[in-house]
Amino acid sequence: MKNKINFTTSFDSNQVMLRSLIRSNRTLIPSSSLRSFHSVPSLLNKQKEFNSNPDSANSPTIDENGLYYGKFTKQEYEDATKVVKQQIEKLEGDIKGDFNVRDNLGKVLQFPQRDITGSTKVENLTDLFVQTIQTTGPITLSAYIRQCLTHPDFGYYTTRNPLDSRSGDFITSPEISFMFGEMIGIWLFTVWQQQNYPTSIKFIEFGPGRGTLMHDVLKSFNLFATKVNKPVNIEINLIEASKILRQEQWKLLCEEEVEFKTTEEGFNTSTSKWGNQIKWLDTEKDIINDENIANYIIAHEFFDALPVKSFQKTEHGWRELMVEHSSSVNNTQPKLPSNSNEEEINIENKELLDTEFHLTLSQKETPSSIIPSLSSRYKDLPIDTRIEICTEAELYLMKMIQLLNNTKNLGTALIIDYGVVNTIPEASLRGIYKHKFVSPFIKPGEVDLSIDVDFTNLTNLSSKFCSSFGPIDQGDWLHNLGIGHRVDQLIKKNTHDEEKQDKIYNSYRRLTDKNDKSLGSYKFLSLLPLNAKPPIGFETPAPPAPPL
Ligand code: SAH
Repeated sequence: MKNKINFTTSFDSNQVMLRSLIRSNRTLIPSSSLRSFHSVPSLLNKQKEFNSNPDSANSPTIDENGLYYGKFTKQEYEDATKVVKQQIEKLEGDIKGDFNVRDNLGKVLQFPQRDITGSTKVENLTDLFVQTIQTTGPITLSAYIRQCLTHPDFGYYTTRNPLDSRSGDFITSPEISFMFGEMIGIWLFTVWQQQNYPTSIKFIEFGPGRGTLMHDVLKSFNLFATKVNKPVNIEINLIEASKILRQEQWKLLCEEEVEFKTTEEGFNTSTSKWGNQIKWLDTEKDIINDENIANYIIAHEFFDALPVKSFQKTEHGWRELMVEHSSSVNNTQPKLPSNSNEEEINIENKELLDTEFHLTLSQKETPSSIIPSLSSRYKDLPIDTRIEICTEAELYLMKMIQLLNNTKNLGTALIIDYGVVNTIPEASLRGIYKHKFVSPFIKPGEVDLSIDVDFTNLTNLSSKFCSSFGPIDQGDWLHNLGIGHRVDQLIKKNTHDEEKQDKIYNSYRRLTDKNDKSLGSYKFLSLLPLNAKPPIGFETPAPPAPPL
């Protein structure tokens, strides 16, 4: 929120007197300056002197420039102007950072701005943010992230396929090897088996990307389901904000001749290669919780794309960090996250270091600054600590739990992401551009934004409503599921193709190694209905969650 100056209450009786005094004498002081005038006793004293000294009536009333001073001398006006100037400077200091609003005092700002032909001047996200900030003041970090990622016309995910093998910015585990999706398909099969083969099930995937994970999951699940000879009807719900990615998912999951339809409510539908009904939905709110269906939920690299809010503890309590567009305030966001290779980026992409937007600490409370004080988790943190809170993650998690706790009390949710356990994310927000870390405040809408998922928060929140297992590292989980045997099998199958063997082996290492270049330290967390037996794969005991 902006600092607010309450002009009405800052008027004291002296100012009211001064205003009528100056008005009645055709002031040279612009009337707008009066707004910021606190009190000018010396000038008022002069007025008293003037009233009691009839000689001052002889002072010049029109100067050499033709300016009319009324009953005051030029010197008196100059003195008053000086005081007014000082007062304005003082106020400017008080509202440092609000220069956009000050610039526009007295003008009615319109959003979006229009040119003389009436068309809007919002051609990209930078225009949108600059104009919004000019109109309303700095915006919350979560609003900034939300627009950067999923704005319908300019958002990162809504305008491209970020996973494209040539032009994409990053690669994910399902895209590295089909073995990843196979292992998850096998795992879902074992949970289905443990739950005594419910016949109506729904696979729900949040943020399916190119659809590769769902494709590989269905393939291996179906293979095993056929082997046990149990009837099963699987519906598919894909929660996907991007129309471009929905098309990619349709291409991969459905035969070309099977139509991609749009229903009257605006959802997309089709039928998979395996005969499953697919429905694409915009948000978790659109999922219909049919009580007779067991829900099997997957969210891979979805939670890290949800908007966070950022707060800093100050002597006066928690304050929110807001996104500002101004060079006049302190930039409190480190230009690059600490784990990026700054030297490399400095050499190759100097221009990427200049951020157009930046985080600034709100001086006053904002509607959200109460959030950290509601949780005892943040109570003992020292002054100046900065934290990120993802309230949207909590909403998605609650929806998942609701889907598990339908009357059948069946199903599961598997959450896989990069994140932290037993610590609180501080300033993890980063930009990802052409396979490199960059500031999240450059090229809005062209840079992917990602945060560390707060796994402890997810397990704490779920503990009352369902059973949770993990989080455990991806490398361990895949080994527990038997990826090693699968690699052996595939290598043996390709004895005469060394190149292919190398590829299989390297993919396996990229999925399981725990270093900067591999994905083995991603975390797997599963949720099952209350009192569920531990599922396979989570054998490594997870550290106990700290009390709420
Ligand atoms: N799970 C995939 C893709 C990860 S990228 C994989 O691992 O390859 C993130 C995915 O989430 C994309 O499909 C993106 O379009 C989608 N997404 C991001 N934010 C979203 C939101 N708020 N609602 C729905 N989908 C979202």
